[in-house]
Amino acid sequence: MQALDAKHHMHPFTENAALARKGARIMVRGEGVWLTDSEGHRILDGMAGLWCTNIGYGRKELGDVAKRQMDELAYYNTFFQTSHVPAIALAAKLAELAPGDLNHTFFAGSGSEANDTNIRAVRRYWDIKGQPEKRVIIARTNGYHGSTMGGGSLGGMAPIHAHGGKIDGIVHIGEPNWWAQGGDMTPEAFGLMRAQELEAKILELGVEKVAAFIGEPVQGAGGVIIPPSTYWPEIQRIVDKYGILLIADEVITGFGRTGNWFGSETFGIRPHIMTIAKGLSSGYQPIGGSIMCDEVAEILGSHGDFNHGYTYSGHPVAAAVALENLRIIEEEGIIEHVRNVAHPYLNERWQALADHPLVGEAKLVGLMGSIALTPNKATRAKFASETGTVGYRCRERCFANNLIMRHVGDRMIIAPPLVIRPEEIDVLIARARKSLDECYAGLKDDGLLKAA
Ligand code: PMP
Repeated sequence: MQALDAKHHMHPFTENAALARKGARIMVRGEGVWLTDSEGHRILDGMAGLWCTNIGYGRKELGDVAKRQMDELAYYNTFFQTSHVPAIALAAKLAELAPGDLNHTFFAGSGSEANDTNIRAVRRYWDIKGQPEKRVIIARTNGYHGSTMGGGSLGGMAPIHAHGGKIDGIVHIGEPNWWAQGGDMTPEAFGLMRAQELEAKILELGVEKVAAFIGEPVQGAGGVIIPPSTYWPEIQRIVDKYGILLIADEVITGFGRTGNWFGSETFGIRPHIMTIAKGLSSGYQPIGGSIMCDEVAEILGSHGDFNHGYTYSGHPVAAAVALENLRIIEEEGIIEHVRNVAHPYLNERWQALADHPLVGEAKLVGLMGSIALTPNKATRAKFASETGTVGYRCRERCFANNLIMRHVGDRMIIAPPLVIRPEEIDVLIARARKSLDECYAGLKDDGLLKAA
């Protein structure tokens, strides 16, 4: 299988030639928080796949629902004035779960597609309101909003922009990453300063040019950057003051990840549009969407067709599976489990990792956490080696110890399935500590503990 994979399968975000030499790790089974690979290793999935298997692997109910839906109506579209029960029921359920007047969902197949919907939607919204020059979307450096041309352009990741460029009308401001960039400022002062870059950017461009601001409540792929407490209230103040649209990209933070249904609730954000995917179906089916507030939906629906849509918008099998996933989250009290059991238990043990010589800070919100690796905690120093060298080495130790923990540069990140139990958290922590120890020893041996 490894040879065939190397020969025929192009992997996302991968140097395929290097992977071909090494051979991909092939996963064959999943159960709860556990994966089994083709060699028979039992691996604790500290990343819930790609931050998506919120209810854990192996829930047969979702397969049963998918089979029933395929037997009954495997596919129909939602273009041309037709609809079907799963899409209707899911849209209604999302209106019930989402905060405020976020009552209308435009479905997509993924988070990237949903963000592409958002670009077209906010520009069209201002068009209809007679302000077609309001087209610019302000986003953030090191944000992640997908890898389609639209999603990748909203994202603030230079390596993605370097491959194929960016679409027009998207500009970036700084990220609220106090650990790496806060210098001598307090986290609170730094958070305020970063948020105020939004106001400065609006004034620089002219408010008549600005359509929207987009941000993840907590930057995920950027390294689980939990913003200082001052950040989102100030962003909200600025968005309100200038009357631009606010898009909260909840692709990771939605469906329980931060201990509430949505990260917007955890951080007190009032978005006009929310991007959703991943935990919507716990990854059992590809589905995403944009939940829009009453006013945006009303405007978009009031002036002829909205010229946008995907063959699989509201796909009946994906929608039925998502509904079953939401039923499980709700009826089994999975969000209460995050808030009352898993978060408090993991938080104490995760933060204790900060006593490790390699760890500068260890932070967790709900069940998404990060560790900043550093050669000097006191100065929050970077390593002298190229960024990511140490993180990659740490990730390799985790992999060898059958723990999936990802690295972003020299930060280690986790986002386990929300159903993780205390005894499984003990295993996660023990493996993380062992991996940090081994990484530290290796860095010492190789003279890589130097600060930049
Ligand atoms: N937005 C955010 C915040 C994400 O984390 C991701 C995926 N990691 C996306 C959008 C893109 O989603 P997808 O990969 O489903 O296109």
